Amino acid sequence: MSKVLVTGGYGLVGSMFNKPNYIPLSSSEADLRIREDIDNVFEKIKFDGVIHCAAKVGGVGGNMNYKGEFFYDNILMNTNVIESARVHRIKNLVSFLSTCVFPDKVDYPLTEKKIHLGPPHSSNDAYAYAKRMADVQIRAYREQYGLNYKSVIPTNIYGINDNFDIENGHVVPSLIHKCFIARETNTPLTIWGSGTPLREFIYNKDVAKLTEWVLENYNEDEPIILSTSEEISIKEVVEMIIELMNFKGEVKWDTDKPDGQFRKPSDNSKIKNYLPDFKFTPLYDGLKETISWFESNYENVRGKKSIHSNQI
Ligand code: NAP
Ligand code: GDP
Repeated sequence: MSKVLVTGGYGLVGSMFNKPNYIPLSSSEADLRIREDIDNVFEKIKFDGVIHCAAKVGGVGGNMNYKGEFFYDNILMNTNVIESARVHRIKNLVSFLSTCVFPDKVDYPLTEKKIHLGPPHSSNDAYAYAKRMADVQIRAYREQYGLNYKSVIPTNIYGINDNFDIENGHVVPSLIHKCFIARETNTPLTIWGSGTPLREFIYNKDVAKLTEWVLENYNEDEPIILSTSEEISIKEVVEMIIELMNFKGEVKWDTDKPDGQFRKPSDNSKIKNYLPDFKFTPLYDGLKETISWFESNYENVRGKKSIHSNQI
């Protein structure tokens, strides 16, 4: 493929596509909620493929507090990018769903066939319904126009270039940031919820490698789950981060904060069948690399909070 557009190209996932023919796009170059902006991008350069990473993304806090924005921004971005790609005769596109889009109550493990079988968890329903519509749009375009458009479904992603915002970010970047502040200011580290919920984490570099493969090689009507299929409790993740960051202070659990969905275990057999030799980065190794990057780049990380702030 000679030219591939990466929307959200400077984000957690988008920044991991390093081939010279992959061209990153930022929101300052094109606000994808505006159809004309994405049309202009496709009119200036002839792309053969699109990896659509751009989205309004957040953890359980962001999803609960900004439901309107999460719905509106995501449904517009997805609708515009997918339709504009079609109009500009781009044959190949990958869009991102998430294991958050699955029903809250459904038989486990989650498989590609279960996306629409019931309502999503209330903590992220606005985001989930907006994302589900991208799945509907892609299936419709495959059927009517015969385009090789498809979606990937990653589990919780983490890695360098994440959004480390403490209130709205995902659990791993928020914990790294909070642990750093607690260590530097000798204050307690406060964790949200009970620590019992289970999650599956995937490293952003692994997501990028697998997505490149999907763009070039995958052409089925159903999306494909990108997952290690290894569950770990939030409490265990906290313990790993504390050890890796050499935090010796007090740890508090704020059970007034939400636990979110209890678990969302996914079945990775489809990707494993295609790529049986793919080696996922172990969580410990990925966290180690992410923490080391965070500590060296603290001044410039997304969502940075001053360690002198009294809002901690
Ligand atoms: P991210 O780091 O927040 O990157 C998303 C990028 O989207 C941002 O960098 C932002 O670009 C861009 N964006 C937001 N609003 C935009 C707008 N109006 N116009 C143009 N661009 C806009 O998110 P990510 O974690 O890499 O997520 C990539 C994809 O994976 C998303 O579709 C997300 O839903 C999905 N996903 C993420 C996770 C996770 O745990 N992070 C899990 C499952 C699925 P600028 O920085 O240029 O403003
Ligand atoms: P989710 O997988 O969509 O629910 O998103 P998150 O990445 O936000 O993970 C949420 C889980 O981590 C919930 O069980 C939270 O209670 C727990 N958690 C513990 N501390 C934090 C924190 O500081 N930030 C976030 N976002 N979640 C936390």
